Amino acid sequence: MSDEQQYDVIVVGSGGGALTGAAVAARAGLSVLVLEKTALLGGTSAYSGGACWLPGTQVQQRAGIPDSTEGARAYLDTILADPDEPATRAKVEAFLAHAPELVAQLEADEAMEFEWLPFPEYYDAPGRVPFGRSIQPTTIKRDALPPLIGELVRPPVELDRVGAPGRRTLSGGQSLIGRLAAIVVREGGILRTGHAVVDLLTRGGDARVVGVRTADGLELHARFGVLVAAGGFEGNAALRAEHGVPGAVAWSMAPRDANLGEAIRAALALGAAADFSALGWFCPGLEQPDGGGSFTLGFRSGLMVDQTGRRYANECLPYDRFGREMAKAPDRVPSWFVFDSREGGRLPAIAMPEGDPAAHLEAGTWLRAGSLDELAGLIGVPADALAATVSRFNGFCATGVDADFGRGTDEYDTFFTGGGGPDEALVPLDQPPYYAARFVLSDLGTKGGLVTDPAGRVLREDGSAIPGLYAAGNSSASMFGGVYPGPGAPLGSAMVFASLAVRDLARSEG
Ligand SMILES: Cc1cc2nc3c(=O)[nH]c(=O)nc-3n(C[C@H](O)[C@H](O)[C@H](O)COP(=O)(O)OP(=O)(O)OC[C@H]3O[C@@H](n4cnc5c(N)ncnc54)[C@H](O)[C@@H]3O)c2cc1C
Repeated sequence: MSDEQQYDVIVVGSGGGALTGAAVAARAGLSVLVLEKTALLGGTSAYSGGACWLPGTQVQQRAGIPDSTEGARAYLDTILADPDEPATRAKVEAFLAHAPELVAQLEADEAMEFEWLPFPEYYDAPGRVPFGRSIQPTTIKRDALPPLIGELVRPPVELDRVGAPGRRTLSGGQSLIGRLAAIVVREGGILRTGHAVVDLLTRGGDARVVGVRTADGLELHARFGVLVAAGGFEGNAALRAEHGVPGAVAWSMAPRDANLGEAIRAALALGAAADFSALGWFCPGLEQPDGGGSFTLGFRSGLMVDQTGRRYANECLPYDRFGREMAKAPDRVPSWFVFDSREGGRLPAIAMPEGDPAAHLEAGTWLRAGSLDELAGLIGVPADALAATVSRFNGFCATGVDADFGRGTDEYDTFFTGGGGPDEALVPLDQPPYYAARFVLSDLGTKGGLVTDPAGRVLREDGSAIPGLYAAGNSSASMFGGVYPGPGAPLGSAMVFASLAVRDLARSEG
């Protein structure tokens, strides 16, 4: 075997977890190969806002916000379904202990810098920090990155999906990916795009994982271990159906044809245990004329009705919580988001991407009418029910109290509407013409997958670790279960466990 095919660590995928693992490994002097299936780096992580839920770090201290490890523990202990289940407790403690270390380690590199991102957490629970404790990498100019990296970072979702203009400055997830990739190559790591890992190579009686096989027939070897951080299986309809993940491939936010779960399947073939019960990171999805769904949050006015014309939840709920409400009944997918003309015919929310209102109207994903009666006819919901829903909601707007779903009572609800009281989230529908936009159940990825321990080691059903095999990000079962604690939970947990995986594998040469 030539040296070219032999590395200390092979990282599968190039999202935030993968590249954190690769950067930490490369900085520690390990030889690193990153294998990315698509032509571009970053996956869904590059589309992301780059928020990282990493509590108790020096970044929150610099910002002077009342964050602490203890506060984050209190918060998780309240919101997680079973925080004292031993495996969950062990992972929570590993996560809380390593988050500050990881950020200090990353910021010790001049290529990486974070800042506090004001963005409320998703539950009103003890330990919640006003306006959140999430951090994000600061923006970086593409030209400040090594030339190849600048061009290889996946474009923002608006550009990738609907061709909206790109920009030279990378922010959020693009900055995270660009900065981490720059560290990897500066430290001698190798990034190879266009190679999908489909198999894991094993050796010896203990079936130690010693490398990978790619779809194009490469066999590449890893002395210390393989880190699978190749996203979930959101793009694979058969696996979604098998594991009962609601929604659809077309409505999911991952880059098209990227995250199909091949590497998860390769690990399962070696006897890895899996837990698919957390399902996904959900969100309401604005349906696009091409059948896609766009991650939507921050509703400023309007209301969502099911196919009977009735509201079923607080539209301003954090997106995963709203998505889980949508998933509760079949007549909620699709739903109709009914809004008026106060924003000039644009959606009063943040949709990534929103798309062109005229194209929506032409395709019938949006409908417009001079009266609510007419609108009800166009979208096929009972006109009397829609009229009653709007009249009741407008009454709540007059009193400033949403007696049905409490819209506007939480800090998160009003964050996008001006930061004031409930009134700001309770805006009447009274400015015709009226619109209805079709909404589906979208996701930011699946979050069920390989069972790992606090060191990121992939476990078998009997609880033993598969030597040489690690997983992080959406390839692994989320430690948060069916809960999405706050902005940056997917990336923060992916980064921590990828880093812990590298720490472990560096000690365990095969
Ligand atoms: C618009 C938007 C905003 C978001 N904002 C945030 C945010 O601010 N903070 C946050 O925490 N989360 C956010 N999310 C969610 C978050 O981006 C994802 O859940 C998270 O990035 C998933 O990380 P991952 O590494 O598991 O997968 P990905 O980032 O999708 O990376 C997986 C990579 O692996 C590659 N791959 C797949 N299969 C293979 C294979 N067999 N071989 C080799 N490579 C393979 C894929 O091509 C892809 O590049 C957002 C999502 C969206 C869509």
